[in-house]
Amino acid sequence: MDLFYTSTRDGSVRVKASQAILQGLSPEGGLFVPEEIPALDRSLEELAGMTYRETAYEVMKLFLTDFTREELLHCIESAYDSKFDTPEIAPIREAEGVSYLELFHGPTIAFKDMALSILPHLMTAAAKKNRVEDEIVILTATSGDTGKAALAGFSEVPGTRIIVFYPKDGVSPIQEKQMVTQKGDNTFVVGIRGNFDDAQSGVKEIFGDKALKEEMAAAGFRFSSANSINIGRLVPQIVYYVYACAQLYKKGVLKKGGTLNAVVPTGNFGNILAAYYAKRMGAPLGRLICASNENRVLYDFFCTGRYDRNREFILTSSPSMDILISSNLERLIYEIGGRNSEKTAALMKSLAERGSYEITPDMREKLHDFYGNYASQEETAGTIRRIYQKTGYVLDPHTAVAAGAYEKYRAETGDTKETVIVSTASPFKFTGSVMEALGQERGEADDFRLADRLSGISKTEVPGAVRELKDAKILHTTVVEVKEMKAAVKGFLGID
Ligand SMILES: *Cc1c(COP(=O)(O)O)cnc(C)c1O
Repeated sequence: MDLFYTSTRDGSVRVKASQAILQGLSPEGGLFVPEEIPALDRSLEELAGMTYRETAYEVMKLFLTDFTREELLHCIESAYDSKFDTPEIAPIREAEGVSYLELFHGPTIAFKDMALSILPHLMTAAAKKNRVEDEIVILTATSGDTGKAALAGFSEVPGTRIIVFYPKDGVSPIQEKQMVTQKGDNTFVVGIRGNFDDAQSGVKEIFGDKALKEEMAAAGFRFSSANSINIGRLVPQIVYYVYACAQLYKKGVLKKGGTLNAVVPTGNFGNILAAYYAKRMGAPLGRLICASNENRVLYDFFCTGRYDRNREFILTSSPSMDILISSNLERLIYEIGGRNSEKTAALMKSLAERGSYEITPDMREKLHDFYGNYASQEETAGTIRRIYQKTGYVLDPHTAVAAGAYEKYRAETGDTKETVIVSTASPFKFTGSVMEALGQERGEADDFRLADRLSGISKTEVPGAVRELKDAKILHTTVVEVKEMKAAVKGFLGID
């Protein structure tokens, strides 16, 4: 039976998975959501015996029902291969009695690889299935990690082009260098003078531009998105929560009938939403702990039921979480509002016009799966230092935000149940802040020298992704104002 997708803002929308992936965003601006969340049809015992790829198939077949078994297996095998530096794909490490699910073993050493290594394959399979002949133009706003992972995934993929907008002064030096050295004639990387929210809003505006859409169509192009608003990003992210439960069950950490709390360092709310979907599918997850950095708009939301982006945007040491408009929260709002698209559309209108909205007490009650907290910059640095001193394990700043928020959760609730902290990036991607947290003087060292020193301290090799950057040539130098984003897109596509 086919699972259909509707829009959070228009209940009359009904498309198949492949069409939702191709479109990215529903035409009226809503996000695609499955008409129902399917239940896992494998037991924990069965899943415990499966590899990452096998688990991926078991989860994805339930959501992407208009893909054939062969198509899905081909996508999965093309994505989760030796691009990852470990056959486990998502290994689990233990430190201080807590499990860390390491999602940074892919080509760009951050968790975005988990979904973006498969999205291009899903997208091209979807295009074929729907007989799309237009060239697909992937338009992406990035807070640092999505950009490179999407570029790496789509570079040289026939029938696609990819345009990435990143905040010129809002990403780490390694993140920037990863993007501006991207090869591939179909890639275009643009810095903007603005922050991530500006980039994301700019991209959404371009998506919604009907005149541009027509011009594009006339020239043989159509847009899609590699941001986590695309369900082709979200579905592959559900996999590792199921995998983590199964692996920890196999290891005896998670007991039969027990549940696993998951702590997720959160920005756009995509990763933690995937955890929520996994739980709804029947994965034995307990509390979903949403960890924010100083841009604590989600923490405030969970405390008060009021979402308010009217505040200062703070640049932190965890730049991939420097976000005030968490796009995927819309999908949760839709669920807790009783899957009511009119209600969701009204709240999102309020967010667009006033920068805020408030949910009803009824909706708040349905948030009991979640707990929100945050960690300041000092707390984050302190967490990196403390865990290193106690265990020798070095966390990146995003993961450290999660570990810090988890500490507060434990202190506040006394809940000591089994917990997994989702580790979203390698510390080598944020060498400067990590070394500073460890009390190491930077001196004259550039990020590459610093990486060598971090390698010594953490007793782990410098990842290939960082080593190969050192002598890579800079190929992208375009920087534009926010209002010039559309012109930049047209310029790259040659449709002026
Ligand atoms: C993107 C990212 C996050 C935030 O994930 P969301 O799905 O946007 O909530 C956290 N950590 C790192 C390293 C990231 O790249």
